[in-house]
Amino acid sequence: MGSVGVLALQGDVREHLATLTALGVEAVRVRTPDELESVDALVLPGGESTAIAHLLVTAGLRDPVGARLAAGMPVLGTCAGLILLARDVLDGRADQWGFGALEVAVRRNGYGRQIASFEAPLTLADGSSVPGVFIRAPRILECGPGVEVLATYAHGGGSDAVLVRQGPVWGASFHPELTADTTVHRLFVGSL
Ligand code: GLN
Repeated sequence: MGSVGVLALQGDVREHLATLTALGVEAVRVRTPDELESVDALVLPGGESTAIAHLLVTAGLRDPVGARLAAGMPVLGTCAGLILLARDVLDGRADQWGFGALEVAVRRNGYGRQIASFEAPLTLADGSSVPGVFIRAPRILECGPGVEVLATYAHGGGSDAVLVRQGPVWGASFHPELTADTTVHRLFVGSL
């Protein structure tokens, strides 16, 4: 495995770099098309999806990232990063664009706004539990047929997909980089 880039335009970049580094992965910041070229996989961090989308354009990264995704580069998007990957975004800004690389429909701030940020245990497919930190999180409403659900959050008598994967494209509605638990990053890195 080569290096994993973390898109470093806005959001919780340092936390992703720290988690990847703790796992022994060569993790680098990606701010330019040149830096993108040097990495084998990419993490799109949490933050503010409209701000990151805007900065992707001004950094000249929108098309290069789109091209790498189309070519099958592995990617993990967390929270705002998931929104940037989703095929359908509800309650987005009118001019909000995304890469449409993951066949899911998400609702921005789908668990409520800042006041509704919360922590809850999540259940992985093997029955084990990981901590989930949700901050103005998108809610995954629908998954396409090619999407595998890797973790769920049970609440209100139902359960939501919160970690999903469609081949090399991974998305989490929560923030695995904000806890000491490295399971999600380990699973992603293990797939490379
Ligand atoms: N609500 C934010 C957005 O729409 C995402 C929040 C987050 O990444 N913590 O971009």
